[in-house]
Amino acid sequence: MLPDIRSLTRDELAARFTEWAQPGYRVDQLLSWLYARRAVSWESMSNLPKSLRTQLSSAFALRPLELAGRQGAVDTTQKFLWRLADGALIESVLIPASPALYGEASDRHTLCVSTQVGCAYGCKFCASGLDGWKRHLQPDEIVEQVLATERIASAAPSSTPAAAADEKSVVTSESANAESRVVNNLVIMGMGEPLANYDNLIKALRILNAPWGGGIGARKITISTSGLAPQIRRLASEPLQFRLAISLHGATDATRNRIMPINRKYPLAELTAAIEDYQRRRDRLITFEYILIAGVNDAVSETAPLAALAKRLHAKVNLIPYNKVDGLPWQRPSESVQDAFLAALEKLDVTATLRREKGHDIDAACGQLRLRKMSELANQ
Ligand code: SAH
Ligand code: SF4
Repeated sequence: MLPDIRSLTRDELAARFTEWAQPGYRVDQLLSWLYARRAVSWESMSNLPKSLRTQLSSAFALRPLELAGRQGAVDTTQKFLWRLADGALIESVLIPASPALYGEASDRHTLCVSTQVGCAYGCKFCASGLDGWKRHLQPDEIVEQVLATERIASAAPSSTPAAAADEKSVVTSESANAESRVVNNLVIMGMGEPLANYDNLIKALRILNAPWGGGIGARKITISTSGLAPQIRRLASEPLQFRLAISLHGATDATRNRIMPINRKYPLAELTAAIEDYQRRRDRLITFEYILIAGVNDAVSETAPLAALAKRLHAKVNLIPYNKVDGLPWQRPSESVQDAFLAALEKLDVTATLRREKGHDIDAACGQLRLRKMSELANQ
């Protein structure tokens, strides 16, 4: 299979164009088609000579994601289910403007993207790992989630709740320019463990960040990890400063071991040492994600170790009430339990937010829409 052209950086494309004896300005013309206009066909690139378009199409693919399903919530959070070229399914979630969740200024739209098909880490509460791990996403498959979402969102009147699923459609409308950019904030919190697909992720993020590419500021990109300690250290040496969120969900090894198998490989002592190393070289401001799961990690007694960790690592805590997953026994605690947990944390001088999940009514937790679609397909 030919590599998709959206997996290449500007330097890689420029080197190819030099080999082909193409003038330098052609690279910028091509990049403008790919990222400002989000082109989905070579034919549409009308200011490139036909011979160059033919040469490009014999060296590279241009594979738009196929929309396999779409759900919209009452608050206009929208979820997209994409079918990849090999038939695998992944998800992205578009969340409308919300006040700063990760320390950024209030945004236009946040997009949550996937990095793998399935997940190998098997957290007990999560739908993404239920069906195991299939493969890493290529850089273009990460980049295309942003472009494909923007094609849809800029074609539709903004903030219109999503229509019913457009089965098998490929969104072909190419909007005019970067002005119609929809996504200005990216969270790497969809299906998969981003730091397990490290090289492809970083390449995709370089493309999404570049002025010639997605133009999304590095400080507006948050990578969430379940705690891959060595890769957290590696992230500290990247030239781009992304934001880091740690899916903690438990502030003691006992609690984390119960729900997150990764903790047996990298227990809290090792994880926190890696975070401290990261903070010495990079951003001190990190976020702890803490899903509240009834009877598992929602007791007020858990707030003392959580507060101690948060203070030591200068972390802000995002509390997220658990989203029920079909087939799993875990439950969301009552609102009074959620509020009591937040109040106890605040009393311990921790900066915390309780995020009543947007999109709760559309299976917004990662992996759920895909899971439902796969069981539908299996029952057909
Ligand atoms: N693998 C990475 C990123 C993807 S998961 C990670 O674990 O950080 C993104 C976030 O969604 C994580 O914090 C994860 O724990 C959380 N999550 C998974 N299932 C959930 C559910 N059912 N309800 C609420 N949050 C969930
Ligand atoms: Fe994988 Fe993250 Fe889900 Fe854990 S929470 S199974 S690491 S996607």
